[in-house]
Amino acid sequence: MTTQPFSSLAKPWYQRPSVSVAPEGFDALLADTVALLRRAATHAPCVFASSLSAEDMLLFHLINRERIAIHTFALDTEKLPPATLTLWAAAESRYGATIERITPDVAGLQGLAQTQADSAIYESIAARELCCTVRKTEPLRRMLTGKAAWVTGLRRAQSAGRASVPAQVWDAGFGLEKFNPLADWSDEALWYFIDREDIPVSALYATGYASIGCEPCTRPIRFDEHPRAGRWWWEAAADPGVGTSSECGIHVAHKDVVGSVQ
Ligand code: SF4
Repeated sequence: MTTQPFSSLAKPWYQRPSVSVAPEGFDALLADTVALLRRAATHAPCVFASSLSAEDMLLFHLINRERIAIHTFALDTEKLPPATLTLWAAAESRYGATIERITPDVAGLQGLAQTQADSAIYESIAARELCCTVRKTEPLRRMLTGKAAWVTGLRRAQSAGRASVPAQVWDAGFGLEKFNPLADWSDEALWYFIDREDIPVSALYATGYASIGCEPCTRPIRFDEHPRAGRWWWEAAADPGVGTSSECGIHVAHKDVVGSVQ
């Protein structure tokens, strides 16, 4: 993974929860989640944007287990860590289902390469945002064009910026209905169900990673850092006054932060 330095090296790494007993109200939470997925599927065509995160692996599990008519895709930014690519293949094998690979526009990548070096993302927010636009936002917009609804794995517990994520909302930025079936899920509920159902997740969760995106922009976190602290961390370090964005723009479709193709 990335070689970018960060502080607090003396502290233990983050460890994801290990929960053997169902959290209170879990059965109702799960039933509501499946019901919301079924409702999303009535907005055909409905697609699920997976980032191969733990949340998205849980949703992929439910969509396949319940045979819900929602097509799954993932953005291959060409900067994903090897562990994510390994999980991608393993998930398709496990469920016998394809996760459609959506890639950046070739001309867009060529223009990006002519405009800035790969290292420019660490030097200016504009350069980082341009990379995210070419590798994520534009491919996502292309994929969502003509769709009636999309599903994401956003949870309110993931960050302060996601604290108001609704279960269902009109996504004005992309012009379709957006469903976040895990909006109410706690960390404990998430990991309890993953372990109970033996859902495959990235090996990086066992090495201090709490949120996983592109390799250059993701680092492990210490136990007392926020789960999204490992994303674009250098922006907050350079200017603590503005804080880290922790979002790449694809979930910022209205004044509340909504969206997680990680
Ligand atoms: S997360 Fe990083 S590598 Fe990935 S598209 Fe954004 S800036 Fe580029």
